[in-house]
Amino acid sequence: MTTTLIDGIGLLYTGDPEREEIPDAALLIEDGLVAWTGPAAQAPDADERVDAAGRAVIPGFVDSHAHLVFAGDRTAEFQARMSGEPYTGGGIRTTVAATRRASEAELATRARALVTEMLAQGTTTVEIKSGYGLSVEHERRSLEIATGLTDETTFLGAHVVPADMDADSYVRLVAGEMLEACAPYAKWVDVFCERGAFDGDQTREILAAGLKAGLGVRVHANQLTEGPGVRIACELGAASADHCTHLTPGDVEALSSSGTVATLLPGAEFSTRSPYPDARGLIDAGVTVALATDCNPGSSFTSSMAFCVALAVREMRMTPLEAVRAATYGGARALRRTDVGWLRRGARADLVVLDAPSYVHLAYRPGVPLVHQVFHGGLLL
Ligand SMILES: [Zn+2]
Repeated sequence: MTTTLIDGIGLLYTGDPEREEIPDAALLIEDGLVAWTGPAAQAPDADERVDAAGRAVIPGFVDSHAHLVFAGDRTAEFQARMSGEPYTGGGIRTTVAATRRASEAELATRARALVTEMLAQGTTTVEIKSGYGLSVEHERRSLEIATGLTDETTFLGAHVVPADMDADSYVRLVAGEMLEACAPYAKWVDVFCERGAFDGDQTREILAAGLKAGLGVRVHANQLTEGPGVRIACELGAASADHCTHLTPGDVEALSSSGTVATLLPGAEFSTRSPYPDARGLIDAGVTVALATDCNPGSSFTSSMAFCVALAVREMRMTPLEAVRAATYGGARALRRTDVGWLRRGARADLVVLDAPSYVHLAYRPGVPLVHQVFHGGLLL
């Protein structure tokens, strides 16, 4: 078994709440896992040595919310929005039509390209949702493609009601035959709980069916308006309530007294020119916050977690430390994972060597490619 020591780390952000930052650090990788972290002066011997030359190291980003299985292009919709038209979520149906027309090979190639693009930017764990098929066969196909790319797959048949069905029959289909076909390929079930998508009762019905089928729960909640999404997520013990842009004090209270993570997706507010969620209020209330890209062709076509960190700091008043924590440790909590999102003994050796002396540069130097090296499962990419 070969051991690799990364030393000369100017600043190691471990993501481990017990010892979050270590200056002048080293990290030992053994068998794909983190075997040791600490001051470089105390580093153990190793078979191989990588000199970080004063650079900062952080855990690989955990992007806990992404929609990567789709076809088509929505440049025109973005262009129209930037010319003043409002975002309503209706453009999802455009992607559904293109996705249904595309071959399985085309969809898989495009999704794989996005995962590769993410990995090169330091994202070593990604969640992938279905939701652009909206028929039994097309949802199943999307999830089958997703399982080839990640362990974190989410059944989002309840993304929007397809143009060719009425809401009641579609909810019955999603909670019945579609769930049955998709559950073998999914770890999670998700619903877009929003005016114009699915209401509280429909959301409860679908999530309850998902739970019964053995899936974990996550919810697209309170993105465009206040609504019941966050409270339903907390009631059902969801791992995460995602978006959380329009919250009442009662929603914040529900989040802080539950184990449900608030996953913030500032790329969506950026790309729809909308007000950002109140990250400060959530953190100050003791809520665990995650940051994710929401990578999708309509409302947030970015795959960059570094960009989301910069937005979180500049637009949502998170400190650089809080933002990096939310993009790593927070994302792992939102997926109920303890093997990723931090660099402690026994965790998967997923880490990013930044071309910077500190993780603060992710926000301080926005838009600049700062990834020097990525290790995934202990292997240098
Ligand atoms: Zn989403």
